[in-house]
Amino acid sequence: MVSISKRLIKDFQMLSNINKMGKVYEGIYIDEKIKIPYVNKPGIALTFDDGFRIDHWYNYGLGKANDKNIFGYYDVKATFNINAFHEYENRFYNQEEIDHMLELQHNGHEIANHGYKHENALEYTEKYGQARWVEDEVLALNHWMNKQEHSITKEKFKEPVSFVYPFSLYSDSTTNAIVPNYFKICRGDMFQSNLLGLTSFECEGVVPAICIDYINLPHTMFIKFALKLAKKTGKNLIIMCHSILPKEKAWSDYNWSEESAQAGKYRISPKSLFYVINQAKKIDLEFYTLAEIAGVATFIDSNFEREVRKILNLNPKNKWIPINKLINIKKLDLAGKNISNIGGIEYFLELQELNLANNNVSDTRLLSKLKALKKVNLINNNLDVSIISNIDKCVEIMI
Ligand SMILES: [Zn+2]
Repeated sequence: MVSISKRLIKDFQMLSNINKMGKVYEGIYIDEKIKIPYVNKPGIALTFDDGFRIDHWYNYGLGKANDKNIFGYYDVKATFNINAFHEYENRFYNQEEIDHMLELQHNGHEIANHGYKHENALEYTEKYGQARWVEDEVLALNHWMNKQEHSITKEKFKEPVSFVYPFSLYSDSTTNAIVPNYFKICRGDMFQSNLLGLTSFECEGVVPAICIDYINLPHTMFIKFALKLAKKTGKNLIIMCHSILPKEKAWSDYNWSEESAQAGKYRISPKSLFYVINQAKKIDLEFYTLAEIAGVATFIDSNFEREVRKILNLNPKNKWIPINKLINIKKLDLAGKNISNIGGIEYFLELQELNLANNNVSDTRLLSKLKALKKVNLINNNLDVSIISNIDKCVEIMI
């Protein structure tokens, strides 16, 4: 239990840090209301660290334990930062855990690289050299992810766009070794690493995050100020969390070693997370993944992604698909391309006509996000008629 006085000190520290952040942005407020998501609408990125917490994310985030999916369906996107190795059980992740990670991705969330074995980048570099850190910690996880697939759906991990530094420890040199070669964006920690502030769209390199776990921010109400600051300045607030666990769930139930006691303090309750999400919704912030803040689009279905690359004339060497190239497209012909998941369609904000005939699409809920849509062809798919009714009545639908 954290004592009351320790808690007060933490509160004051956090409040003064958030105040400092306010000073940085004093006077650079935007006055017009910006409304275009993925381009310049201010937002929030919720990020969750450490692969060994997958059960907590899956059970209390996706709501598999309590039937309360905190994130909804593409309603609140988040970024989950994984490793390949369970440090407290001394083993690699098993198929069930990998399936759960892939199910997070399937729900529109980003899966980011948090190091193969969660090694401290500075210590590892000092011991073995930077080239080995890149090989053993950074690329090893990309290779591991590339080899995995979901046991039933066969879905694979997307190539990570974001790297999240374990312990938020890094140097300019470690960042230069991996950006832009392997990643677009690296997440640090706002206060630990003297990175104060908010993040602009299409950023590259290290970005700051504020940790709102109970240990750092006992009173989530302080986060309201930081959210308002993002809104007023037209920028993005990146938030760091670890486990999602209800207060009554004891850490000792997991039977992890004494060693895990410190890691056990890094948790946020579903209730506090709901509070933060609702505060962000109240002031109309958008929910982004780290990749989206970096301006990179993610398509779950590789057949859909291949078609988008063709349309944009991107060759395989262009690693990332820029969101800003998608938002002005008005017509999209994807007929007969063996597409089963339309995740990524939400970036086509100006889309008026969509041809999805002769595919395997079963879920069209994301089409309700396309406000300019006038006509959609869904002939010969795997559709559930009750879900189609979600599409705006003004849209002409062919089924
Ligand atoms: Zn970590």
